[in-house]
Order: sequence, then C-alpha cells, then structure tokens
Amino acid sequence: MIYTDTRDSSVKVDFRTAVLNGMNAKTGGLYIPVEFPKLDKAFTDRTTDPSFREVAFEMAKPYVKDEIPDGDLESIIEDCYPFTSQVCPIDPVTYVLELFHGPTCAFKDFGARFMARTMSYFNRSEKDNLHILVATSGDTGSAVGSAFHNVPGIDVTILYPDGKISPLQEKQLSTFTGNVRALKVKGTFDDCQALVKKAFVDQDLRSKFRLSSANSINISRLLPQAFYYMYSSIVVKNRIPHDSKIENPAILMVVPSGNFGNLTSGLIAKEMGAPITGFVAATNANHTIPDWIATGDYNTRPSVATLSNAMDVGAPSNYERIAAMYKLEDVRKMFASYWTDDAGTIEGIKQCSSNTGYIIDPHGAVAWKAWDDMRNGGMEKLLKGEKGDYTKPGLTANVPEWAQKVVDKEACAVILETAHPAKFGATVVNALGREPSMPERLEKVMSLPDNAIPMEKDYDSFKEWLVSNL
Ligand SMILES: *Cc1c(COP(=O)(O)O)cnc(C)c1O
Repeated sequence: MIYTDTRDSSVKVDFRTAVLNGMNAKTGGLYIPVEFPKLDKAFTDRTTDPSFREVAFEMAKPYVKDEIPDGDLESIIEDCYPFTSQVCPIDPVTYVLELFHGPTCAFKDFGARFMARTMSYFNRSEKDNLHILVATSGDTGSAVGSAFHNVPGIDVTILYPDGKISPLQEKQLSTFTGNVRALKVKGTFDDCQALVKKAFVDQDLRSKFRLSSANSINISRLLPQAFYYMYSSIVVKNRIPHDSKIENPAILMVVPSGNFGNLTSGLIAKEMGAPITGFVAATNANHTIPDWIATGDYNTRPSVATLSNAMDVGAPSNYERIAAMYKLEDVRKMFASYWTDDAGTIEGIKQCSSNTGYIIDPHGAVAWKAWDDMRNGGMEKLLKGEKGDYTKPGLTANVPEWAQKVVDKEACAVILETAHPAKFGATVVNALGREPSMPERLEKVMSLPDNAIPMEKDYDSFKEWLVSNL
C-alpha cells in the first residue's frame, strides 16, 4: 500500500515510513492510504459471525502488503488482541459496542497495541532501541505505556503533570517496570508537552538516541480501530432480524468524539464495505466539528473541561483526514451531528440506566443521549425544517440521507462505549448514586507500587535525566 499526505498528494511513502515517522514533518500533514480496498462481498454479507481476529487480519492485510508477510501479520494480531470488542444489545434497536475489554479499559488499547507491535516489527533490524517520548494528561499515556510494555527493542518515557490527573489514572501510568517509565513533572500538561517537543528538535540529543512519538495521529493507530466497526456491523446486521424484525434497517454508528480518530476509523471501515449506513458525530461542549457540519466554517478554539474529559479537544486533528477523504456535502449526507453539555451527559447516564439497565460511562453517555434525542423527536423536527440553534446543545441542522429511516423506526444504533464506567466512577456515582463495579485489572493496578520519578519542568533537568538513564 502507498500512503500519501493530507497536505501534499505528491507524497508517496510505504507503511513502515508512515508508522515510524508518525506525521510528515515537512508538510505538517497526516498520512493516509491512497485507497481503501473493499473486502470480498462474501465476507461482509456472511450470515455467520466472524471472529474479531479474522476481521482484523483480512482488513489489515492490504495496508501492510509487501511489508509484513501473512504469517507475521497473524502473529502480530494474535499478540495485539487477546481481548475483543463486544456487542451488547440494550433495547430492541440499540446495541452498545463495548471497547473497554483491553488492559487499560478504554478503546485506545485497540490502536495503541497495533502501533506498538508494528513499530517493534519495523525496528527489529535496527541495532539500537527506539525511544518513545509521550506527554499525557491521562488516558493516552496508559494505553501507550501498556501497549509498549515488554515490547522488544522499544523504551518508553511518559511525562505527566504531577497532581493534575486522577489517582486511578496516575496508577495506570506510574506502576510499570522495565522498558516503560513515568516522569511526574512539577508543572502542567503544556509543560510536559513542551519538554517532549524540545527534545525532538534537540540535535545533540537526537544524535545520541533514536527518538519517536506515539502520537494519536499515527496511521497505525487508526487502521486497527476500523476492525471493530467491521466486526460489529456484521454482527449487528445478523442479529437485527432476531431482535427487532426490521427489514432492511439503517445501521448507525454513534461515536463519542474528541480528536475524531475513532470516527475516522469508522469511515475507513465503511469504505471497505462494512454494512454501515451512517454516523452520528457526538461531542461534548467542545463542538468544533458539529459547528463545521452546521455552518461549513471550521474554527478551532481552546478546549473546555467537561465530564467526558478524553473528548476535550478544541482542534480535532483528524478533521484534516475527514476533509481530505470527503467533500462537506458528502459528510452532511452521511453524518448527523450532535453535542451536549455536562448536564446532558449526567442525564444520559441516568436515562440509559433507567430505560435499559445499562451503566454507561460519561463518554458513551454523550453518544447514548444523541441517539435517544434523535429517535424521540429530534430527527423528525429536523425533517420538518425546525432547525435548532447549533450554538445550543442538540442535533445540528444538517439532515442526513438516512434521516427518514429514524423517524420511520427503521434504524438501529450502535453506541460506541469507549471506556469502562469504573474509570469515571465519581461521575457515575453523581448520576446514579452508586459505584459501577470495578474490573479486576483496574483494582489490581490500584495496589501496585508507584514508580514515577519526580522531574522539574526545566529542559536541562529533563535532558540530563534522559542522557544518564536511557
Ligand atoms: C480518546 C477517547 C475518546 C475520543 O476519541 P477520539 O478518537 O479522540 O475522537 C472518547 N472516549 C474515550 C474514553 C477516550 O479515551
């Protein structure tokens, strides 16, 4: 497969280069495959459910062709996914796609583990280790740390702001041993990021070590997220006749979004033939993308803090990929878009629990709320031309091609549940008055000893530490 660049279509690189570079430093653009090959129709039309790994292998194959032989790809996938995504019906037309069965209990495990193993694969012919530096304010760091833990040929240093992340998040970052270590920096997230950025442009440091980032824009994190869209849409397509008797239903993916990497992966799956009719882009008060879909103007802004904090992104980096793949009018045909505030998020957790018995986390709650509002009058109003004010919570004005199907009750929704509710226990308690149950792997991490190394926020201290410890 050839990969090009969102800003310069004359760029042509292979998968290895796209993975190891992360982004194109020359143009500032993001790598994107030149095509999205369709899977065999016999595969997507099948009436028996595939296994997750089978889907992963079939989907990954064209993107790594000529660079990773089939047998090696099979081993990589086996090693990445000892867990799977799970489709959980919560009412006759609503499915929750649980993406939290990986080691850190959030969907980022799917992408981070594939990135770690492909990087290690491509690094195996080098004699020196690759050093990954990553600044984090929470979720990304734990997924990346866990994904690279004990992966040969790679060392990871995670920087996080001391005292500014939750105790559970801190435990998930700071208790690794071996090739992954954490520095708790006496400063803010921005200070951490500034240290990492400075290290990357420090020629003296770069002459001593091979440095890389584990950025969320890396194409090797995006492609594997498409696996669970393909998998779940086939499973749901096969279930619907038993669950709700709708003939020819619209299958809608409702995606709680921040950087829009997850949703972009859904677009890749649809391009590859997944039986997906459309998408709902659901955000919190950071509604840059819903505003773009409503007005046609893309205006980034500083992020605001919300209860679904992994979606607090004012300048979503994958906008660039979506805009490179589709014209705005095509996006408007395919997408509904929606945003809600913290009050709506709490209401979403409450309604989902009282209507279905399912305990959803604050990120999934944003998606649930979008779907519930849509099917209970929201879409009908839009079709009647009663377009809401996009600066207020609710559905934004564009009417997707499949809107009538929702009104006619011929649509079903797949709500992407991106994190386990126990990761956001305080918010769930606030909404429901009780704690979600804690998965064993989260409980375990709480009792591990903290190995984080205290670090000043000035660059010289950081560099000195790197030089004497890497
Ligand atoms: C990262 C994250 C999101 C947002 O995903 P994007 O790909 O950035 O849109 C949503 N929910 C959780 C729990 C996350 O960790």
